[in-house]
Amino acid sequence: MIDLALYGFDDHKYPGSIPGTIPARIIAAHRERYDILCENGEASAQLKASVYYIDYADEPYPTVGDFVLIRYNPLGESQIMKTLPRTSYFARKDPDVGRGEQIIAANFDYVFIFSSLNEDFNIKRLERYLAVAHQSGAEPVIILTKADLIENHSTMLQQTEQVAIGTKILVVSVKNGYGMQEAEAYLQPGKTIVCLGSSGVGKSSLINQLAGEEIMKVNTIRDDDDKGRHTTTHRQLILLKSGTMIIDTPGMRELGLWSADSGLDEAFADVEAFLGQCKFNDCTHQNEPGCAVRAALRRGDLSRERWQRYLQLKEEVTYSENKQKFMQQRKEWSKSIAKKNRQMKKANQIHK
Ligand code: GDP
Ligand code: ZN
Repeated sequence: MIDLALYGFDDHKYPGSIPGTIPARIIAAHRERYDILCENGEASAQLKASVYYIDYADEPYPTVGDFVLIRYNPLGESQIMKTLPRTSYFARKDPDVGRGEQIIAANFDYVFIFSSLNEDFNIKRLERYLAVAHQSGAEPVIILTKADLIENHSTMLQQTEQVAIGTKILVVSVKNGYGMQEAEAYLQPGKTIVCLGSSGVGKSSLINQLAGEEIMKVNTIRDDDDKGRHTTTHRQLILLKSGTMIIDTPGMRELGLWSADSGLDEAFADVEAFLGQCKFNDCTHQNEPGCAVRAALRRGDLSRERWQRYLQLKEEVTYSENKQKFMQQRKEWSKSIAKKNRQMKKANQIHK
């Protein structure tokens, strides 16, 4: 018997159950099938059609990291009966997928946000990742990597501190071990970590170093002796020896900067603090009298650069929302057709 608590399950959070079901965690999501882990070990499961696929169903489709209730089948496919409420998740609006939203990962405790301390260092990108992380409901941790490549990282650290008030910032190098102890402190049993950051910033290198094994593929040109190495079936939720879990999926890797909307408030709490204080409710902060933002800029309480960045991000979010709306409308028609097809297919399955 496996104790699901080792995989972060806390049954106190989920009072009431469905008779005949047991909890499980999704460790990999495939097209129409899931790999799950339950008290009986690893198993394969499918969504119960009459719960998930009928017209009025609004049961969220599970994703990697989700806790679900299953009807366990020792002889074949188990059935997923319910997706339990999430403590955190990343969602991506996608009119082509499922119900217009694709959930990429769920129930993680920490979001490691990576940025490297070399010429790739980009404070704006970091800010956006931070907004996305805040929005997920989990705790962001900023990891500035490749400290060995730079003599003095104090300016970049300062810049980071300014945009990440209240967020833990680690400076690390896997090459010389700098800051690794602080990173290891996050290897807590039962906790789940996801990684955000552009390709090449050193996510895999750090996670592998922490894990003490190669669980994520490092972006280097393969050596000759690597050629024959067989890549085992890729699990998307990986349990480390420490008892910590890492979620690593293609979706996480692609996770870009689309849904930074509500997270913006938290990432820019210092800016937003001035917004409600203008004399006029509809202040545009251009030339109205009694504008708290312009006063803060004049006093130097708010840096011009940070204000500009805030405006820029706001604009990008609005643009991306409008674009999504347009796409949504355009796809509505084809979507409704697809839905009808799906329903017909499922109805046939149920009656089989
Ligand atoms: P990922 O794409 O974010 O997972 O990045 P990788 O972990 O694959 O690393 C990309 C490249 O950066 C590889 O060539 C690594 O060897 C290199 N790298 C990673 N961490 C460090 C570091 O701390 N110092 C230096 N100098 N290079 C690093
Ligand atoms: Zn104003």
